[in-house]
Amino acid sequence: MTDLKSMLPEELEDYLKELGQPKFRAMQVFRWLHQGAESFDEMTDLPKALREKLKEQCMLTVPQVERKQVSRMDGTVKYLWRLWDGNCVETVLMRYKHGNTVCVSSQVGCNMGCAFCASTLGGKVRDLAPGEILDQVIFTRKDSGEAVSNIVMMGIGEPLDNFDHVLRFLTLVNHPEGANIGMRHISVSTCGLVEKIDKLARLGLQLTLSVSLHAPDDSVRSRLMPVNRAVGVETLMDACRRYFETTGRRISYEYAMIDGVNDSDEQADRLAKLLRGQPGHVNLIPLNEVAESPLKPSRRVRQFQQRLEGHGVTATVRRRLGSDIDAACGQLRRRRIVEGETQIPEEGSN
Ligand code: SAH
Repeated sequence: MTDLKSMLPEELEDYLKELGQPKFRAMQVFRWLHQGAESFDEMTDLPKALREKLKEQCMLTVPQVERKQVSRMDGTVKYLWRLWDGNCVETVLMRYKHGNTVCVSSQVGCNMGCAFCASTLGGKVRDLAPGEILDQVIFTRKDSGEAVSNIVMMGIGEPLDNFDHVLRFLTLVNHPEGANIGMRHISVSTCGLVEKIDKLARLGLQLTLSVSLHAPDDSVRSRLMPVNRAVGVETLMDACRRYFETTGRRISYEYAMIDGVNDSDEQADRLAKLLRGQPGHVNLIPLNEVAESPLKPSRRVRQFQQRLEGHGVTATVRRRLGSDIDAACGQLRRRRIVEGETQIPEEGSN
């Protein structure tokens, strides 16, 4: 079956041309898909015969709401979507003064194995298609009735491990006839796949790259993030430097604060030294506790922040949105898997 939603406009044109259609049909179909049409019958400005043909040849992905949690504290909405093959992924809608941000997943599960992360328990099941990443934006907007102005790729999965699909998603979501979200309103977060960072740099996109650093030295970082065992902190920082030089875009460094692991003053000093001479910004994230992990949130987030600022490094503490609704990476999907195995239901039992 052909996946129309993952196609770029010119590919849609070619596809429809083969079906004997005029050029303008491509944009009609594109708009329907990007508005979240749930059947080809909805596409009322297409000839009936064409709709029938598309039904025969094409799939139309419409993720179903498996679970939805709304934070009473800040209105954050977390969706667990069921995909066409029964797999589930998460999307979070966050409300900020400057507009709504949607946090999307890029894979079903993840292969990176970070010690603190719920998404990687059970490994990667599969990559998401470009259209399935896009669906999270389209159907979050449709279900919530809210406009979306920013996107962060900080959900389940390692975006740069699904490079081509993620790139195609960015092109699609950026399109003026689609969601029309500017590259400067999009962040892509990576655990630090160096070759892919270089590849992304060469494209010169104006998006924000977030690098999940979490420790300033190889011994702690390798313990927390297996990806660091092959390519250490220094090599990663070199790639970050190149990224800035090539794109002119400052990198944002993510640092999840873990009690007694990466939150000492000495580590703040080392982090400051590592970032010296490099325009960047540190985002301190209070660790979200994951049931399967012994790691605990740090109690010295403010001290760590002040220590960094004493060295002239700008650091912000990320506001915890949706902390009453499991809004951390991968926790809702994980819970469904665990409950599925032990057969504890049910909808609304949170
Ligand atoms: N794979 C990408 C994006 C996914 S996660 C990456 O590694 O960047 C988005 C961010 O949340 C990453 O910085 C990740 O390290 C962080 N994160 C994952 N689990 C967390 C937890 N339990 N508490 C705090 N931050 C977490």
